[in-house]
This record gives sequence, C-alpha cells and structure tokens, in this order.
Amino acid sequence: MSRVHLLATGGTIAGKAGSEVDPGYRSGEVAVEGLIDAVPGLRALAQLRGEQVAQVGSQDMNDALWLLLAARIDALFGANEADGIVITHGTDTVEETGYFLHLVVKSPRPVVLTGAMRPATALSADGPLNLYNAVAVAADPAARGRGAIVVLNDDLHCARDVTKASTTDVHTFISPGPGLLGSASYGRIRYFRQPPHPHSAASEFSVDGLERLPRVDILYAHANMPADLVRASVSLGARGLVVAGMGNGNVSTDAASALAEAVRAGVVVVRSSRGLSGDVGRNIELDDDALGLVAADQLNPQKSRVLLQLCLARGMGRGAVQEAFFRY
Ligand code: GLU
Repeated sequence: MSRVHLLATGGTIAGKAGSEVDPGYRSGEVAVEGLIDAVPGLRALAQLRGEQVAQVGSQDMNDALWLLLAARIDALFGANEADGIVITHGTDTVEETGYFLHLVVKSPRPVVLTGAMRPATALSADGPLNLYNAVAVAADPAARGRGAIVVLNDDLHCARDVTKASTTDVHTFISPGPGLLGSASYGRIRYFRQPPHPHSAASEFSVDGLERLPRVDILYAHANMPADLVRASVSLGARGLVVAGMGNGNVSTDAASALAEAVRAGVVVVRSSRGLSGDVGRNIELDDDALGLVAADQLNPQKSRVLLQLCLARGMGRGAVQEAFFRY
C-alpha cells in the first residue's frame, strides 16, 4: 500500500458554518484528523498520516508558508517517509501554491493539492470526495513525474495551468488552453497527458538555502490607468512587478512610461493579462525591446508573480527572466 502524507493548511474544506445552508462560514476550523475521519474508505486507499501545517483561509497563504511546505515535502520524500503528498488548501490561492511546488519540489513523487468550495458542514459538501480522489492520485504510481496536481470536482489539473474561475461554483477550476491533466471517478484515475513544461527535478528552481522570496507586486490595469501606483510599488521596495494588463498585456501610455522608469531603476517588469486565456506575446502593441519589458507568454498574473519571485531569487536579469517565461 502506498504511504500518503497529508499536510493540512486550512481553507473551506476545513470550514464550519452555523448550519448546513448558511453561506457564511469560517475557514480552517476542522483539524486534519477530522478531515480524514469524515471520508469513508479513505484509509483503505493508502497508509495515511496527517499533519497540521497551518490553519488559514488561503487568502492568508504567504511566501513563508510556501517555503515551509516545500521544505517539509523535500524532507518527507528525502527521508523516504512518503510515496505521495496531499495538501488540503483553500481554493483562492491553491493555483499559486501548486505552481510554486511544481517548480521547486525535486522528487518525481506526486504532490496533490485539493480543497473544497463548500465548508465541511454544508449540505452536499464537496470536500470529502475531493479528498478521496486526491489521496487516490497521491497513492497512484502513475501520477509520478507529472509535477504538482490540483484535484477538485473529479478533475485533475496541472498546477501550472489551473486557475480559479468562479467565486462559488463547485466547478470553479479550469485549465484554459492546455486543458485537463486527467479525471477521477470515486478514486479511479485517468490521465490525459503529461505536462510539457519543465517542473520538479527538471526545473532549475529550488528552495535550498532560500530564506525569503523577493517582493513582487501585481498591478491591475484598467481604463484610465494612472502611473503613480507603479512608482509607489518601486518606492516600497518591489524588485519585480507583474502587470495584469488589458488584452494582450497592455497598459496606458502613462503607465508604460512609469514601467520603463522602473526597469531603468533595476526592477524586472512582466506583462501578463487580466484576460482568462490566451498568450501575451512580445512586441505586440507595446515595444518590449525598447521599454525593457518581459512578456508573460502563458502565465496569468498570479502565476507570473510566483515565477518572477523564483527568477529574482536566483539573481536572473530580465533576459534570463524572459527565457524562463517562455520555458516554464
Ligand atoms: N477564502 C477561502 C480559502 O481560500 C475560500 C475558498 C475555499 O477554500 O474554497 O481558503
């Protein structure tokens, strides 16, 4: 039987409401043993161990917790204490935590993230079946080598591609462009593809010796976008900026000038898009070569922030950062 280690971080999957039909609730109230005990048959899928790493709504997930999770997973795999990991996590930022781990965990063993859209106390809570499927994936030797996988609502997503698309729908996660990695049906797992971009041991990023991540801010572009927020971020110490640009990563002319100023001050600036799908290419409407900007290619703003933090932590300049965005 595979050994699966469950790292619980909180989120709605561990949430409690006043009644079965109360839309208001508190994230992260049920402890890890309670999560495991709520799922009939879970212990028949794998030899399970649970560990409470945090107890937060994932809006409070942060760089320090990412580093802690990555170090804990490296330690568990390094000591051969687990064949697979399941992380229970709030859905708000699971795509960011997942992409971070996809890039830095060095083992081919599966790292599976799951959560729920309805609290544990809700009518038709989705958490128990999500957890059942997540443990089945983590216990499955065929999941090896596919990087971090997000499992929810019977779907398997590559952590690089997945994004949260609805505030409340249980079918909130989509992988625009590349599509699903696989599917789950009551623990029976099918895989549709391999993630084509480098991850895990094939990625150059790791958390070895990393005590903190550099500050990278995201600025949301909009009609009438001013330039002063760019200057504010730079003066507050951001070493990188990601723009959630309009359409193909566009910003106002004023903001573009301020970004070019930031680049001259040594800040690396990545243009992503506030659109849900499609690529951001170089030199489309903005002259990236002249302005010194990096195009995000396929990564949304929040994933661009993760990759840019890791690039800056490795001391990469903007040319190397652009290559990383095309590669990862
Ligand atoms: N804010 C909560 C979280 O991310 C709600 C989302 C969820 O877990 O479904 O933890």
